[in-house]
Amino acid sequence: MSDAQPQDIKGLEREGLVDYAASHGHKPYRANQLFEWMHGRGVRDLSEMSNVPAELRDPAHARLGGLTLDNVLKSQDGTRKMLLRTGTGQRLESVIIPMGSGRWTQCVSSQVGCKMGCDFCATAEMSVRKNLTTSEIVDQIYHARSLMGQEDMQVNNQVFMGMGEPLDNLDNVIPALRILLDQKGAAFGQRRITVSTVGLVPKIAQLAESVPINLAVSLNATTDELRSKLMPINRKYNLAQLLQALRDFPMAPRRRIFVEYVMLGGVNDTNEDAKRLPKLLHGIRAKINLIPFNPYPGSRFVSPTEERVAYFLDKLHKAGIQTNIREPKGRDIEAACGMLDGAQPI
Ligand code: SAH
Repeated sequence: MSDAQPQDIKGLEREGLVDYAASHGHKPYRANQLFEWMHGRGVRDLSEMSNVPAELRDPAHARLGGLTLDNVLKSQDGTRKMLLRTGTGQRLESVIIPMGSGRWTQCVSSQVGCKMGCDFCATAEMSVRKNLTTSEIVDQIYHARSLMGQEDMQVNNQVFMGMGEPLDNLDNVIPALRILLDQKGAAFGQRRITVSTVGLVPKIAQLAESVPINLAVSLNATTDELRSKLMPINRKYNLAQLLQALRDFPMAPRRRIFVEYVMLGGVNDTNEDAKRLPKLLHGIRAKINLIPFNPYPGSRFVSPTEERVAYFLDKLHKAGIQTNIREPKGRDIEAACGMLDGAQPI
């Protein structure tokens, strides 16, 4: 065992920590202590774990994976963008968004870059690609917790809508979700975490079976023809298959699936689209977020007019669907939806 690499214990769920403790001859309650230090208190140094036996916090056996916080950019509207770096030097971002009345939502990344290739998203254009590890995913939340804590504020909701496709990295996302839900860790409620997908249909069921959180789906078009052009994933899993997966998604009473609809001016914001959208969602307990397209350097789409957004809102309300407009937050620091690319705006 002497030349074994130290294990990243921050990415282990409780059972993994019990095994780790046992492998050094320690009882299961040591796993609870490790868990609370790492996830409850967010310590970044093994030496701070004062009640843990020396072998368990020996850097030859264990390391605390995670991210370095390089910089925080603050938008005029209060949005904060954290610029983070992995241990192997890749850059990523996570955004903390003011929701009003002192409430904050954090937009969490699951990958550096993304291979889904959506036509309207800056993250798709990144050449660097990497699945974030479990410890790198949860560490975004701990960085936000200490950052906001300095101002006596806290993050209320987590949305996996940052860089990457969470369902393309479920092996790391599922343990991260379980760790975040743990009452001895960050202790988020199930209703306060939402995972968003482009529509990786088989993975939707896998997620549902593994951990009870909210689901969001980026629909973004009302015909297969257009959706396949905008989002390559639709060539593999079409609208009918995606909508069936949403119908099958197990939901507690009063919960809803969030449906995101990025409005691209002149592309998917026609009267016909506004008519088709509620029909597609018939029988699905859904809530729609209309996201006016956020332009980024080099993008080839335009934002919809205010008239189009108001028209959609009106039609969807009349069809009885709860609908919100996702106001662009943090555009000045390139922190709004679809603008995250790991590069710092100049
Ligand atoms: N890959 C997952 C998680 C990212 S969520 C998913 O796509 O659901 C990011 C959201 O921002 C998605 O709903 C996406 O459709 C939307 N989006 C991407 N680029 C955008 C842009 N330039 N302007 C507005 N919204 C955008």
